[in-house]
Amino acid sequence: MTSTRFHTWFTHTFPNLFIPPVLLLYTADARDHALLRAQLTQRVLCQEPNGDVPCGQCRSCHLLTVNNHPDYIAVVPPNSEQKNIPVDAIRSLPERVYSTHMAKNKVIVVDPADAMTVSAMNALLKMLEEAPAHTYFILLTARGHLIVPTIRSRCQFFTVPALQDKTAEESSTHAQRQKDWEQLCRSDECALDLAERWKGYAVLDNMRWIALQLVTDIRDAARHNTLNQHHHPYFALWNIIQRAQYHIEYGHNLNPYLLLESILIHYEENCLPIQSCSSEQQ
Ligand SMILES: [Zn+2]
Repeated sequence: MTSTRFHTWFTHTFPNLFIPPVLLLYTADARDHALLRAQLTQRVLCQEPNGDVPCGQCRSCHLLTVNNHPDYIAVVPPNSEQKNIPVDAIRSLPERVYSTHMAKNKVIVVDPADAMTVSAMNALLKMLEEAPAHTYFILLTARGHLIVPTIRSRCQFFTVPALQDKTAEESSTHAQRQKDWEQLCRSDECALDLAERWKGYAVLDNMRWIALQLVTDIRDAARHNTLNQHHHPYFALWNIIQRAQYHIEYGHNLNPYLLLESILIHYEENCLPIQSCSSEQQ
């Protein structure tokens, strides 16, 4: 089931197997990272893909299966005690990239990208500015607001819906949220009532939900050429949410209820008339 969901998302997001060389993926569920790492890497490195499905037979596929492909570099926190990705892990990349040589392409996955220290992010930024040829960077994060804007601006970013099955409780919460959101979009319910209803949910979950809705709305508007990238209220709201998430993560004192209320009011007042309610959330 998860592979099917991945495939659906992948073919929809990267038609004709065109994968941008610097990817930042905002994941809905960090539990999906292992699957994304494996599947995306295989799609870049497989030597004899069947359309957009890796063959599973070639030397590259085989080496990936046994986790021994010289052109695949995973940058992850050093161990379970140390959760940060230190700057040295990034500084050593050029040497590792140039010393490996089996396939034409190389893949560097940073997982989770938000675990990089600020110095590591700056080092990565330098590398992205002079990215080696035939090298794919895949940055995975379920906490995109922790990625510095300079990195974000260097990447093409996409959202990945949850690929794993939800628990019964998650499914029921999700269905309720979807219903509430649709009511807000149809103006059947006002922002204040919705804020009241959602105040029982975790504040970061609320922010994440609204952020994912915004991304979907922005993408739909871009497809229909109704988006002015410099003045759109969606971007203003997106920035507010990113900053709020950042402050919450770092324990700054925000009133979650007032925050939710003001964000929903902003959405209701500025974003409703020009969008249709998104239905692509998983
Ligand atoms: Zn293959």
